[in-house]
Amino acid sequence: MTHKPPLIGCTTYHKVADQNPPIEIYGLMPSYVRAIQAAGGIPILIPLGLNQAELQAIFDRIDGLLLPGGGDINPDNYRGDRQNPTLRDIDEQRDWVEIELVRQAVAQEKPVLAICRGLQIFNVALGGTLWEDVQSQMPQAIIHDYFHRDTRDYLAHPIEIRAGSRLHQTLQASSVRVNSLHHQGIRDLAPSLVASGVAPDQLVEAVEVPGHKYAIGVQWHPENLLEVAPVMRSLFTGLVTVASNGHH
Ligand code: MN
Repeated sequence: MTHKPPLIGCTTYHKVADQNPPIEIYGLMPSYVRAIQAAGGIPILIPLGLNQAELQAIFDRIDGLLLPGGGDINPDNYRGDRQNPTLRDIDEQRDWVEIELVRQAVAQEKPVLAICRGLQIFNVALGGTLWEDVQSQMPQAIIHDYFHRDTRDYLAHPIEIRAGSRLHQTLQASSVRVNSLHHQGIRDLAPSLVASGVAPDQLVEAVEVPGHKYAIGVQWHPENLLEVAPVMRSLFTGLVTVASNGHH
């Protein structure tokens, strides 16, 4: 039996590059691409600007889905406060694409790994809500936004992992230290998700869909930790392994 490496669809951002004249870009940080490659998968970038039928055609062909980090989600998607002054980089097209893909992946049991903003859109797509800004809104919040404080692989705080969870099975640990590059976070967990990891301030930093083959969301950035915390590779090998079992 020949073994085909699975295709892992990755959503992308839209940016306007500061050139003269400015140019538009759909992009993805190479760290995600390399993490999927290292796990044996083939990354496929999913552009914005597709209609529903085109997006569906891509979804049907990919074996797994990766939702990367990025800007804030439009609060209209979770009955949040559009006026919050900390909101940045809202992209309604990207919100729509990712919400569609999350709902399909959950309904059709396609493997999905959701990272940072990915975890947040995962929660919102399934009916959960967010803190528009953890630091100013969540009682007793520790520091989570290390964007301008340290490098992307700085292990900022621990996570306690729920015994018996898929995350626990994947990482083989009951606690891990993680990087923290986010200012938003989960407020109300979506009804169909369970919390599999929490920070010391009780912020939910890992979620999963019980009974799903592989549907994990993490608030940290495992793609930046492959060297300093090699255990994080297992999140990608888990995704790729389950994705490769989907076709023969
Ligand atoms: Mn954090």
